[in-house]
Amino acid sequence: MKQFRQIRNFIVVGSMVFVLFGSLPGFASSIDSKKYSRVIWNYLETLCAYGPRNPGSEGYRETLALIRRVGANYADQVVEHPFSVRTSKSSSMDMVNLELRFNGTEGGAPILIGAHFDTRPFAEEDLNPENWSAPILGANDGGSGTAVLLGLAQYLSQHPVARPVHLVFFDGEDFGGKDSGLKLLGSTFYAQQLIQVEKEKWPYWVLVIDMVGDKDLQIFKETFSLKGSSSFLDKIYDVARGQGAQSFKESVKYTIYDDHYPFHRMGIPSTVLIDFDYPYWHTLADTLDKCSIENMFSVFSVVAKTIEGL
Ligand SMILES: [Zn+2]
Repeated sequence: MKQFRQIRNFIVVGSMVFVLFGSLPGFASSIDSKKYSRVIWNYLETLCAYGPRNPGSEGYRETLALIRRVGANYADQVVEHPFSVRTSKSSSMDMVNLELRFNGTEGGAPILIGAHFDTRPFAEEDLNPENWSAPILGANDGGSGTAVLLGLAQYLSQHPVARPVHLVFFDGEDFGGKDSGLKLLGSTFYAQQLIQVEKEKWPYWVLVIDMVGDKDLQIFKETFSLKGSSSFLDKIYDVARGQGAQSFKESVKYTIYDDHYPFHRMGIPSTVLIDFDYPYWHTLADTLDKCSIENMFSVFSVVAKTIEGL
């Protein structure tokens, strides 16, 4: 009997703790961490198994097919935005942004969450000059953001939020050489398309996720993000603090021209979450072993909880 009472007390206390923590905003108890860490990591492994995913490569085509499959399985609607880029006087290249749309339960202006799925066609920062013309694998740069977005697609199909969420996989972020002007191609095209759309339909907020896989993850606040989206940045960092996500650093460090910039320039609140302190950036050493399943999940979890409260 005594034993029974002890067990019963344990159950009562246990469920009180659950109710208490389960109702706190920002607490990650409702996200199945084991399941979704696996989901995200599997996507990253799959992307890396495709090899480099620069435009025109086999890995690039396989990545598009993967995003389309995930979209068909989980999204309410998949929208393709094909465009062509003039790469020299005599040649051009076909590219495409893929958008997975989730309607949300209450409607309103959508939250746009973006990541570039292309990887850099050349490893110009590699320590060995012989590698400078080889395409990078981009486990972190290209892979990590794409894997988090694919995980979000799966999650949002089960856990819709109030606003519509548009997951946009941008092409051509990392395409051209330093002074070519051929960067941020997909996001620039997407932002230009918005000019033809009524402002009421513009994104409520643009959140770009890039290079979030690093084992030593440190996400500092970025200058354009702070200037144009400080209240959203506060929300992200509040959630991160609530979840004990150590990789979110409160100070400002870099000014970065990433896929959020074309939207920032239009006056749309736009944020990039990025760890730019990555020694393997644009080298052949940007491989899966440099990435952390826990860190990627922590970013996923912070983003999922942040958009739940918008
Ligand atoms: Zn890059």
